[in-house]
Amino acid sequence: MAKVLCVLYDDPVDGYPTTYARDDLPTVERYGDGQSLPTPTAIDFVPGTMLGSVSGELGLRKYLESNGHTLVVTSDKDGPDSVFERELADADVVISQPFWPAYLTADRIAKAPNLKLALTAGIGSDHVDLQAAMDSGVTVAEVTYCNSISVAEHVVMMILGLVRNYLPSHEWVTKGGWNIADCVARSYDVEGMHVGTVAAGRIGLAVLRRLKPFGMHLHYTDRHRLPESVEEELGLIWHPSPEDMYPNCDVVTLNCPLHPETEHMVNEETLKLFKRGAYLVNTARGKLCDRDAIVRALEDGRLAGYAGDVWFPQPAPEDHPWRSMPNHGMTPHISGTSLSAQTRYAAGTREILECFFEGRPIRDEYLIVDSGALAGVGAHSYSAGNATDGSEEAAKFKQR
Ligand code: NDP
Repeated sequence: MAKVLCVLYDDPVDGYPTTYARDDLPTVERYGDGQSLPTPTAIDFVPGTMLGSVSGELGLRKYLESNGHTLVVTSDKDGPDSVFERELADADVVISQPFWPAYLTADRIAKAPNLKLALTAGIGSDHVDLQAAMDSGVTVAEVTYCNSISVAEHVVMMILGLVRNYLPSHEWVTKGGWNIADCVARSYDVEGMHVGTVAAGRIGLAVLRRLKPFGMHLHYTDRHRLPESVEEELGLIWHPSPEDMYPNCDVVTLNCPLHPETEHMVNEETLKLFKRGAYLVNTARGKLCDRDAIVRALEDGRLAGYAGDVWFPQPAPEDHPWRSMPNHGMTPHISGTSLSAQTRYAAGTREILECFFEGRPIRDEYLIVDSGALAGVGAHSYSAGNATDGSEEAAKFKQR
C-alpha cells in the first residue's frame, strides 16, 4: 500500500467555502484538438467546488483510503523543517500544483528512496528536477490540457487590461475619483496592434484564436511550425526565433514551458530587441524572464507594461520587486486554478493515480518523464536538465 503526499495551497483566510457564486459549471465535451477530458472511473467531489486548497484534498481521500493507501495533505512545503520534507522520506507518490509548488530538487529526490511518481495536478512540471527524476527512475506526469484554456482566457484579459489601462482606472473609482485624463493617459486600443506568442502550443494557439476577432496582427514562434491550414485560417506570421519576432510586436506573450533552453529567455540583451512601449504578458513561468531586467525595462519605459501570474520562486517573498514595479498587472499564480480548471485537474489526477495503482499505462499525453527519459508530451516540449535552482528562496514567504 502506498503513501501519497499531496501539497496544496492554503484554504481561504476566512475558511473553506461553504457556498459558491454559481451553482454549476458549463459542460465541456472535448478539448480543442479532440483530446478527451480526464476519464477516471469515478469522482468523489462536487464539480465547481474548491479542490485545490488543503481541505479540498483534490477530492482524493475516499478513493485512496478505500484502496488501503495513506494520504497526507499539507501546505507546509518549504525549508528543511517543513511537513513536506519530513513526510517525503517514505512517500511513494508526491502530488503538487504549480500554483504552490513543492520543489522536488535533486536533494529532496535523494531523500525519498520510495518515490516512484511525481504527479503535477496542473500543467508544467518544472518544479521537479527532471534530470534527477530521470536519473532516479521517478515517473513525472501532468494533466495536459486541463487548464490551457483557463490560462489563454487570462492572457487575453491581461493584454486588454494592460493596453487599456484597466487596473489603474479601477483604482481611481475605488478611491472615489473620476479622473478620466489620469485613466486614459496610458490607454490604447489593441485593434491593429501586432501580438506575438513565444510558443503556439495549447495555450499559445488558443490565445491567437481568441485575439483574432480583435483585429490584431498575429505572430508566433515555436520549435515546430503549425500546419499550413492553421497559419492560413488565422493569418499567422511565423518567425524562426523569439529574437526575430520581438521587434515586430506591440504585445509579446510567453507560452512555452520552463526548461534549461527557455530559462531567462527574456533578459537585458533580448529586451533590447523589443519595440519601445511593448507590453509583455507571461503566464507561463516566472523564470522565463530575468527578474531584475524586467523591473529596469518598466522603470525606464522600454516596456509599457508587464502582467502575469507566475513568479520565481513561489510563493514570491514579500520583497519580490515584481510586487512594486511600475505599470504591472501581476496576480498570484491563479490563471490555471479557476474552479472550472480544478474540476478537470482533480479528475485527471485521479485518472493518473488509478492507472499507476492498477498497472495500466498512463496516457502518453500526460507523461513528462518515464523509464529514465523524457517521455510522451515531455519528449516533445521539454529539454533534459533542471530548472529548480534557487527555489529554496520560497521559504522566505510568510502568509498574511
Ligand atoms: P503545450 O505543451 O501545449 O505547449 C508548449 C509549447 O511550447 C509547445 O508548442 C512547444 O513546442 C513550445 N516550446 C517549448 N520549448 C520552446 C522553445 N525553446 N521555443 C519556442 N517554443 C517552445 O503546453 P501548454 O500550452 O498547455 O502550456 C505551456 C506552459 O504554460 C506550461 O508548460 C506551463 O509552464 C504554463 N502554464 C501555466 C499555467 C498557469 O496557471 N499560469 C497553467 C498551465 C500551463 P514544441 O512542442 O513544438 O516543441
